[in-house]
Amino acid sequence: MRKIDTRDFRRATRTTSREINRRIVLNLVRDHQPVSRADIARRMSIGRGVVTSIIQDLIDEGTIYEGATGHAARGRRPTMLYVRTQDRLVVAVDIRFSRTFVMLSDFAGTQIALESFETAFDPHALVVDLTSRIRRLLDAHGARGRCEGVGLVVPGMVERLTGRVLLAPQLGWRDVDVRDALAKGVGLPVQIENAPMACALAQMWLGQRGNTTDNFVYVTVSDGVGAGIVLNGQLIRGETNSAGEFGHIPLDTNGPQCLCGARGCWEAYTSNQATLSRYLGRELVPLWGGAVPHPAGGLTIEDLISRARAGDARASEAIVATGHYLGVGIGGIVNALNPSQVFLGGEITGAWDMIQPAVRAGILERALTPAGRKTPVVPEQMGGFPRLRGATALVAAPHFAAPRVA
Ligand SMILES: [Zn+2]
Repeated sequence: MRKIDTRDFRRATRTTSREINRRIVLNLVRDHQPVSRADIARRMSIGRGVVTSIIQDLIDEGTIYEGATGHAARGRRPTMLYVRTQDRLVVAVDIRFSRTFVMLSDFAGTQIALESFETAFDPHALVVDLTSRIRRLLDAHGARGRCEGVGLVVPGMVERLTGRVLLAPQLGWRDVDVRDALAKGVGLPVQIENAPMACALAQMWLGQRGNTTDNFVYVTVSDGVGAGIVLNGQLIRGETNSAGEFGHIPLDTNGPQCLCGARGCWEAYTSNQATLSRYLGRELVPLWGGAVPHPAGGLTIEDLISRARAGDARASEAIVATGHYLGVGIGGIVNALNPSQVFLGGEITGAWDMIQPAVRAGILERALTPAGRKTPVVPEQMGGFPRLRGATALVAAPHFAAPRVA
């Protein structure tokens, strides 16, 4: 999927089809709403007639709507156009090692309902549980007819065509289907994606205007750590869709145990589980092969942050150490990919004031160029549920994305 750059599309307007013009119109309305037909035609430098007919199609299919009239210097006041997002609904699902979150939201990512429950590690049991919860949620909000799909993010590698989860170390999953089973259960299309890639997509599609560039990395820190990479406005997927696994780059091959089975991965120093393990003085337990003891014994990263704020020095130390390791790893990412900024999502951003100096110091230690050392790290807003926003984008973004032309 490629984002349409609404500032530089002149070439496309001369050489490509009505479908591309349609998506450019849609993206322009989204970026500039409320906007008039005349303004769209002016921005695209194409005939008013073509624009009018494309807009009529978009109105007929319910993608955009006409709202209040705007102001004009003289003459008739124009009717303004908006993208229809409020009554187009998505169920977003974030499957994690610790808990699974389900959110009903609209196409703009506005939350309507949110619930969470303990994750069943058996994929079949999880699908059965999710199916009944999603059905109940849709019924409770009278949303069945208006929900256009389910977006599912998982902590693992997803095969693009089949939607199968090839590997999710935290869950102990190998070559597992949840997409098709869930689609059958709820009777809606289901889109599935690796969580960091979905977060990067959401940053492109639902991010605040002016807050996104064409070259950025989105680092997600939760029970695991991963990265969604966007270069030249394109999400980098790699040959088999598994790019971005920076979490399993080793910092020290004799380092702490990682949930993937290896030692010393970046994730084993920086994930929520790693931070909690550091505080508790316990090693993480790989999940493969049976029993799943919760390494933190019910203690969450939010609890740990609260303890640190209440004066627990060991809690602060554990959190600040995570900040330092995050910075060291981000320094490596900066060297490898040269992004203009790095977004950081996850509960740890709730301690941003505590970790920021350590993050910056880590980057300063490792980044090789003066420009690299200055790369901004932007923490995701607290309570923004970036992974659920990512899941929402899986359903909403294809309506706005550029069609594949290459
Ligand atoms: Zn690992």
